[in-house]
Amino acid sequence: MHEMALCESLLQLIEEQQRRHGFRRVRRVRLEVGRLAGVEVEALRFGFDVVTRGSVAEGAALEILEPPGRAWCMACEAEVEIAHRYDPCPRCGGYGLGVRGGDAMRVLDLEVD
Ligand SMILES: [Zn+2]
Repeated sequence: MHEMALCESLLQLIEEQQRRHGFRRVRRVRLEVGRLAGVEVEALRFGFDVVTRGSVAEGAALEILEPPGRAWCMACEAEVEIAHRYDPCPRCGGYGLGVRGGDAMRVLDLEVD
């Protein structure tokens, strides 16, 4: 389950921010997890609760935005939305797609005290 490793990196990032800005605790973490990022959001939530126990982020709300996958179809010469990385183009059924977005995980912001 690589979500656990992602949560550990996330906590490291939060602790680095904490050292830099000296806040007491994290109230909320906003994350963007693209639908093509290959991340199980439920596993991520579970991992976050486990990893942050006893840390500055314990009990913080985890808000996850899930932007759709975006890809460029060479046949249609248009940008289309896809739900999974190897899906065909929803317009023409072709596979000549290049992923353009919705394939990353990043921290949007932290709400702290
Ligand atoms: Zn197409």
